[in-house]
Amino acid sequence: MADLIKRHNGIGMTSQRTRARMVERLREQGIRDEAVLLAMNSVPRHIFVDEALASRAYDDVSLPIGFGQTISNPKIVARMLELLNLQGELGHVLEIGTGCGYQAAVLSRIAREVYSVERIAPLIAKARASLKELRIHNVKLRHADGNLGFKEGAPFDGIVMAAAATRVPKALLEQLAVGGKMVLPLGGQEQQLCVIERDERGYVETIMDAVKFVPLVPGIN
Ligand code: SAH
Repeated sequence: MADLIKRHNGIGMTSQRTRARMVERLREQGIRDEAVLLAMNSVPRHIFVDEALASRAYDDVSLPIGFGQTISNPKIVARMLELLNLQGELGHVLEIGTGCGYQAAVLSRIAREVYSVERIAPLIAKARASLKELRIHNVKLRHADGNLGFKEGAPFDGIVMAAAATRVPKALLEQLAVGGKMVLPLGGQEQQLCVIERDERGYVETIMDAVKFVPLVPGIN
């Protein structure tokens, strides 16, 4: 128990102070959403990467998590969640691409229920263990193809995709609530972050920053 607390609290490069500095940098980089900043200040990011990389967990970089995948850099996580949540209250949120589970953990602090889908089975197992270790209980994980969404949790107030698609999966558009918002990278070699809002009349797309994500791959592994 004492060891576990020590591991969560971290020391030196994994300490709360290092994490607070990461949040300060996010502020300097223009992130304004206090709920997102607070959530990122509270989730120990080093728990989600291999111990050998823990000292770099709070740097402004993406890091390998195995199976050719990466944990997104803190800036992009903050940016996506800020775009998702501009005016408060998130009930059900869907994440496509759980990876190591870090973004799902941050989401668990700003949404009531988080549903997250990942196509690589061992990553789901790792994410599940990390979330359990942090006693996060409002995240439901599923090993499945994210192109199909997560029907049981729908409709979603927010959908966030951590892998780039060339077109928006139809099931995700259907599972977005009226009044809801989806944030996703769209494109192939050249990608842009897009925000799609659903209102009574349909969908409105806004194109934001240029980004670089791993591709959304169909099927499971
Ligand atoms: N959210 C993660 C980032 C994960 S990287 C974080 O917090 O760090 C993107 C993830 O999307 C990878 O793990 C990849 O396996 C997954 N992915 C790619 N295509 C997918 C699909 N069709 N369905 C579900 N997950 C997918």
